[in-house]
Amino acid sequence: MKKCSVFFPLILLLILCQPTPETGRRQLNLVSEEELFKLSFEQYQEYLNTHEVITGTEDAELVKSVGSNIQKAVEQYYKDNPEKLKRYRWEFNLIEDTAINAFAMPGGKVAVLSPILLVTQNAAGLAFVVGHEAAHSVANHANERLSQLLIAELGGMVLSEALQKQPQKTRELALAAYGLGAQVGIILPYSRIQEEEADRLGLIFMAMAGYDPEESIGFLERMMEIQKGQQPPEFLSTHPAEENRIEEIKKLLPEARKYYRNPEQEG
Ligand SMILES: [Zn+2]
Repeated sequence: MKKCSVFFPLILLLILCQPTPETGRRQLNLVSEEELFKLSFEQYQEYLNTHEVITGTEDAELVKSVGSNIQKAVEQYYKDNPEKLKRYRWEFNLIEDTAINAFAMPGGKVAVLSPILLVTQNAAGLAFVVGHEAAHSVANHANERLSQLLIAELGGMVLSEALQKQPQKTRELALAAYGLGAQVGIILPYSRIQEEEADRLGLIFMAMAGYDPEESIGFLERMMEIQKGQQPPEFLSTHPAEENRIEEIKKLLPEARKYYRNPEQEG
């Protein structure tokens, strides 16, 4: 399994980078949202068709209800910018699997793999994971990552051209951009900046959805504990967490707490 490192010429970067509305950070973009969502929706459906989707259990209901609460929080967060979520088609599914993982495909397609529920342990832990994944989605990280891969692997073709000329390869690169590259042998970890953005927004979303953002710490501590064992969680191969991740999260908590309304304390 190879790790992808991505290099691109500075000039191209300057031409193609656009500021992201979430952070003002400039993002590389060879991928239109419309095209990426079309591909993503196809690939998500393909994933569901080839995996066991769990329905009708308490766990499956939990994933649906936490997902729906996070979706409402995201919509509330962007209420002054309805254009932003216009093409989103949210979906939250629990998948039977052996890997400790969760991922989001662009356009709001989230999957939670069953073993991660042993680590999230409660609704708030799950809300952190789902909020973090939803944050990767709304921060356009897959667009940015796929743009980098198109430059590194296909000479900087735009997505539509790449899909025409090298459909199989392009679909594999897209999976890697979503954090699902282990399936095709390309592991592309989210960058530190992307992880920080997803943590910051994810904590805000979980807090707005009525889950205590402090619960993120317990989840990460449990995740780090498993990391020391023989089989590190797949989740950490795409969402790297160093020791200081928990310290970074603690710095983000005061902002997230401002959005937190504890449902139990309200009549
Ligand atoms: Zn992440």
